[in-house]
Amino acid sequence: MVETEPSGGPEDPTIATFRALADAMPASVLLMTPDGQVEYANQQAVAFRGASVEEQRAWKTAQLIHPDDLPQAIERWAHCVATGDRFEMEYRVRRADGAYRWFHVRGQPVKDAAGVILRWCFLDVDIDDRKQGEALLAQTLAELAASKLRLRALIDTVPGFVWQAAPDGSVEFLNQRWFDYTGMQLEDALGSGWTSRIHPADATPLGAYWQGLLASGQPGSFEARLRGADDSYRWFLIRAVPLLDDTGRVLRWYGQNTDIEDRKQAELSLARVRSELAHVARVASLGALTASIAHEVNQPLSGIITNANTCMRMLNTEPPNLAGARETVRRTLRDGNRASDVVKRLRALFARTEASAEPLDLNEAAREVLALASAELDRADVCVHLDLAERLPRAWADRVQVQQVILNLLLNALEAMSALDDRPKRLWVGTSTEGTGNVRLSVGDSGTGVDPQDVERIFQAFHSTKRTGMGVGLSVSRSIIDSHGGALWVEASDAGGAMFAFTLPRAEARA
Ligand code: ADP
Repeated sequence: MVETEPSGGPEDPTIATFRALADAMPASVLLMTPDGQVEYANQQAVAFRGASVEEQRAWKTAQLIHPDDLPQAIERWAHCVATGDRFEMEYRVRRADGAYRWFHVRGQPVKDAAGVILRWCFLDVDIDDRKQGEALLAQTLAELAASKLRLRALIDTVPGFVWQAAPDGSVEFLNQRWFDYTGMQLEDALGSGWTSRIHPADATPLGAYWQGLLASGQPGSFEARLRGADDSYRWFLIRAVPLLDDTGRVLRWYGQNTDIEDRKQAELSLARVRSELAHVARVASLGALTASIAHEVNQPLSGIITNANTCMRMLNTEPPNLAGARETVRRTLRDGNRASDVVKRLRALFARTEASAEPLDLNEAAREVLALASAELDRADVCVHLDLAERLPRAWADRVQVQQVILNLLLNALEAMSALDDRPKRLWVGTSTEGTGNVRLSVGDSGTGVDPQDVERIFQAFHSTKRTGMGVGLSVSRSIIDSHGGALWVEASDAGGAMFAFTLPRAEARA
């Protein structure tokens, strides 16, 4: 029998050692009678329960164990008392302040030689912190699973394709939308399988662009057509963003493809309308030149007829004047070529061809347009100053479209000077290289100038101050220059009139 308190006389050294050992343990140690009455409790047990051994003796189990755990504990304890089996359970025990804490409770029966239980030794270890941790972990895992499900649902319902690729670009994941659109199977789409759905015309440029992103680790986007399950193609904006580690290495690529088919169709029809309008504007501006162009073609034609007559006469003389005839034939050829040049230039400007950018010499383009308008310029008594830069880098542009812009600016300048009688009519055409490397062309005049209030309005379609003006010239010109990645604007000219200028990207910058 172990006394709970030293009672008077010197204590048995074994008991003293046991007591010291029990008090040093970070757990509750209890000794109980075979029927479960507390005989001894170490300091931790007394402190935790807030009751002396005497007080505990009078306790019922129900005062100690959490009601939810109680039935099981009683059942187990009854079993152990009856059989002498070891008691081992986890349940919540009430602390002195009323709070319950989880304990791992182990009870070992001490038996005599005949196997009769003499007492029970209990060791109750506080596992509340561990339990809390486990509960938290379980809760976190459940939340994680739930949020994974939510995320998956979100990814699958996002209006577009969502994908993930390894650092080398091989695709590891695609959302449900991709499979719905393409009708592909998962294993066929992974890796580079998805690329079989790119439009043949987009496959090479998209492949090159994607390789560029993979090499640079930069985010980017690209427009390409992808084939659906019904074999039709739709335009998609394909965006890719890398996930980088601390050292800037790509860990993974994430991407989203958005359907831009409707926008593309709208752009295409807008481009068609713009090109129709541009053609109308071109025909209109050439219409303004018709009289002088007819005159210009007529001149060499009458020269040809005169020369041919002269030639005939020289050949009819006896002996024929061969040297003179040769000279007149030479002049006939020259005039023929002149007329043919004018017609060639006209046909090029009238032709309705698809716009196609190429390296373009702005000086040459300007000279050709000036040649076309030269008769008109002479007729209007305009003095032209050319200031074309030498070694001008070539622009990246569609020749016909740019010539249309130049012609527009020339004709506008001519009209702005038509009513001048107080000062000479002067026109400047200049080219230069911008600080940015872009090439620039400007057309200045000594005409009426543009009212500062109208500086933006004149670029709007159908704004005209002229009685017969259509007001589309400048708006078409600006949309042409914009579509080339350049800019068109107006400034006041030193000579009192207006100066229109545009820039175009240089061809070399694209190489
Ligand atoms: P339109 O020539 O048919 O009027 P534009 O779009 O070419 O159409 O020009 C719009 C307006 O811009 C002109 O009506 C005119 O008022 C003004 N404008 C264009 N060029 C000049 C210029 N060189 N000097 C003064 N005003 C100009």
